[in-house]
Amino acid sequence: MKEDPSASRRGFLRNFGFGFGGGVLRVGGMLGKLEKIAEAAQNLDRKVGFALVGLGSLATNQIAPALLKSKYCSLAAVVSSDPQKLQRWSTQYKLPENCLYSYETFDQIAYNSAVDVVYILLPNSMHSEFTVRAAHAGKHVLCEKPMEVSVEKCERMIEACQSAGKQLAIGYRCQFEPHHLEMIRLARQQVYGPVRLIEASFGFRLEGAEQWRLKRELAGGGALMDVGIYALQGARYLAGEEPIEVTAHETKSDPEKFSEVDESIFWTLKFPSGLIANCATTYLVPGMNRLWAGADQGSFELTSAFGYDGQKGQTHKGPFSFPATDHFAVQMDDFAQCLATGKKSKVSGEEGLRDVKIITAIYESIKLGGQPVQLC
Ligand code: NDP
Repeated sequence: MKEDPSASRRGFLRNFGFGFGGGVLRVGGMLGKLEKIAEAAQNLDRKVGFALVGLGSLATNQIAPALLKSKYCSLAAVVSSDPQKLQRWSTQYKLPENCLYSYETFDQIAYNSAVDVVYILLPNSMHSEFTVRAAHAGKHVLCEKPMEVSVEKCERMIEACQSAGKQLAIGYRCQFEPHHLEMIRLARQQVYGPVRLIEASFGFRLEGAEQWRLKRELAGGGALMDVGIYALQGARYLAGEEPIEVTAHETKSDPEKFSEVDESIFWTLKFPSGLIANCATTYLVPGMNRLWAGADQGSFELTSAFGYDGQKGQTHKGPFSFPATDHFAVQMDDFAQCLATGKKSKVSGEEGLRDVKIITAIYESIKLGGQPVQLC
């Protein structure tokens, strides 16, 4: 029997409301309990409210439109350094004045019951500050990739969310995209035998010289932190095991423009099973965008693998395809369901930390002139 989508949405919204109420009831005193029952009742039959922090390109062009397509999530508040932007968003998305925040007034979001999740869309090195502040304000956090620019900062984010009893997830949208899920199925089920080799690469030509992506203090690194992380993720989720060793090399054709961050990096991951993944990233040329796996009896791959859309699947037997989805809407809906059921997100803070540890080892190998670095 086919499910009535509106009925399942009502069911979800009910669970979401109770999920919150139940969670808080366990910790409050009698007065607190009564207040929380009233709060849980208000939460019934409403979507999960998201506050977007940093109204740049991703927030404007992908996340706000995705929230309009989402089944379980809606835009509840915005946070920006620019008062004019806040006013424009308020008009466009019909947000009341008390749902507009600057970075200075952000902590007041603790008193906004319409906001359940803070979605961090800031330059990389600002992710930990706003995750910690959001957790202190009693909000769940969805944070864009890379999680942060150092292992220590990632650990602080995990600790803050754990202490506050809030969920933390990282913006790994490809882990919710059907072509990627099919690649994972083909690998895990060993449909063509065990995977022996993986090739993963993602890069684009970064134009201009005046943006935060070129500044170490804000970006933490270059192409590797920004888009190489997709290739690293792809290698890890196809392998289904954690790498034990990495070797890496860097090239720079424009040392002046890329004086603070990396331009192109090539790295090789060794896995315990003997599987090898060759990965690459760049800010130098357009069109580097592929995820390929070679198994004993065949191969499978995605081209246009990591873009917002246009994924093309192919095995050695022929093409495969799935209907286009909005990666961000699907990921946010998954997070909303995790909050309703109490299930931990598959793209948790710990998953983000694993990548930042490997990225750190990649930079270490480059510093050592391409020597292998062991990963524990
Ligand atoms: P943008 O530069 O377009 O936007 C970043 C926003 O952060 C700015 O508009 C600004 O918002 C705010 N900000 C605060 N302080 C600074 C500062 N010192 N310098 C620059 N901006 C500042 O970046 P993106 O939207 O492309 O990227 C944001 C995050 O999202 C990054 O972590 C990036 O890695 C990630 N990302 C993820 C993608 C994905 O597919 N998952 C794709 C693209 C990016 P305001 O003016 O409102 O204060």
